[in-house]
Amino acid sequence: MTISEVLKNFIDGEWRDSSTGRRIEVDDPSNGETFAVVAEAGPEEVELAVASANRVFRDRVLIDMHPYDRGRMLFRVADALATCGDEIATVNCMETGKALEFARGEVQTAIRYLRYYGGLADKLEGRSIPRGANLVDYTVRSPFGVSAQIVPWNGPLELTARSLACAIATGNSLVVKSSELAPLSGIEIARACETAGLPAGAVNVITGYGRTTGQALIQHPDVRHIVFTGSLATGRSVLKTASKRIVPCIMELGGKSAAVVFADADLDAVVDAVRIGSFVNAGQNCNGLTRLLVERSIADPLVERLKACVEGLAVGPGRENCDITPLISERQRQGVERACQTARSQGARLVTGGTALSERRGYFMAATVFADVARDSSLFQNETFGPVLAVTTFDDPVEAVNLANATDHGLAAGVFTRDLDRALWTADRLWAGQVYVNGWFVGGVETPFGGVKQSGYGREKGQEALDGYVQTRNIGIRISQP
Ligand code: NAD
Repeated sequence: MTISEVLKNFIDGEWRDSSTGRRIEVDDPSNGETFAVVAEAGPEEVELAVASANRVFRDRVLIDMHPYDRGRMLFRVADALATCGDEIATVNCMETGKALEFARGEVQTAIRYLRYYGGLADKLEGRSIPRGANLVDYTVRSPFGVSAQIVPWNGPLELTARSLACAIATGNSLVVKSSELAPLSGIEIARACETAGLPAGAVNVITGYGRTTGQALIQHPDVRHIVFTGSLATGRSVLKTASKRIVPCIMELGGKSAAVVFADADLDAVVDAVRIGSFVNAGQNCNGLTRLLVERSIADPLVERLKACVEGLAVGPGRENCDITPLISERQRQGVERACQTARSQGARLVTGGTALSERRGYFMAATVFADVARDSSLFQNETFGPVLAVTTFDDPVEAVNLANATDHGLAAGVFTRDLDRALWTADRLWAGQVYVNGWFVGGVETPFGGVKQSGYGREKGQEALDGYVQTRNIGIRISQP
């Protein structure tokens, strides 16, 4: 599939070319060929997008709407996505490289977010605070204004939908800056917003590079809220910019999530969790299972089973629904390969994989398992964002929990055991925003998600997410007795 027209930015309800004439080429990661070209949003587009979102806010277009009607708009966006679900899944598969089956899942998840928050739009309530006979006092939960939403490339459709849905449900207007590597999914959402008849300017979707377009957006004086989903390094830089104008942020950053496997665990479930949690989308998942902490007595047989499973995975393009799909870019692949070289030099034992699959076209990397990964090594501590699993052994539950918590990250964690007491004891002590028991990716649209420690703050998903899109204001009224 090649898209011949230049794809434009969606600003103030219209499709706009770039005033600079600059273009961004979008590659198919399975063969490295450009299949789409997008207009790069320059300073003028950022200005227009923020101005239109700000006008919607200042004119109270969304705030004064009945919340039920804001919800209905989101239902209509969901319906528009559903109507073209197969085409959108194909686009998402092509730009991210992920398996078509998972791209279809991403479309369904995006639709679920829109419907879930559409349904919650009229359920966000304030409080009445008793203060005696002479005062009436209540709170209102008000939007911030223009929300700037910076989206990564690994789940561009569902991540755009999840923060867009929260923002609109709560009466914020927004400007989404899609990833330069996978901007087409955001454009599909913009099309759905257009079809759904959202007020012009309520949702703007632009594409550009982070350091230019992204930076111009977050430092714009009329942006009053930032939702950043991406790497820790970029997150730090976004926070620095936000601190200048005290702009509140939701930070959804990376992880180095560990699963603790006790000797009594169902090992079929563990192998299955690794197959999905570590290797789906070539391991490019923020809450991927990247460290496996295994009780020593079962470590050798389990590693053998993992090796057999991993070596049996089919490598190939997402459109063929292969297990190991490409990484997003050559740069990403080189970074993952470097991480594997460092792991070896720091003493980890290579069980399988470890190198780029350079004989193939596209950005493929072998599914990789390392054993004997030391706690102070780079592979144990730092996000790799590739198909690489680090296995470390432990001797007792306290050591297991300490190892699991021994990084600066805390996005997800898991425990595998048949013993309920042990599962609950461990789950309580795993210091992560989301904990899975006897499975991986056990969370859903309705379960709060987000980091502790340097994995970020604020929550997406679930009812809690809405709290990050409103600020409580208090109104006190003095009354006199008749
Ligand atoms: P990245 O940080 O490189 O880029 C993320 C986005 O930030 C992109 O749109 C990029 O253009 C933009 N950006 C870059 N520099 C910027 C700047 N100075 N100002 C404003 N915007 C800027 O991350 P990535 O490689 O696209 O995504 C992978 C990362 O995202 C991983 O670390 C992963 O764990 C994380 N992630 C987190 C979640 C979550 O919910 N916690 C979900 C998905 C991905």
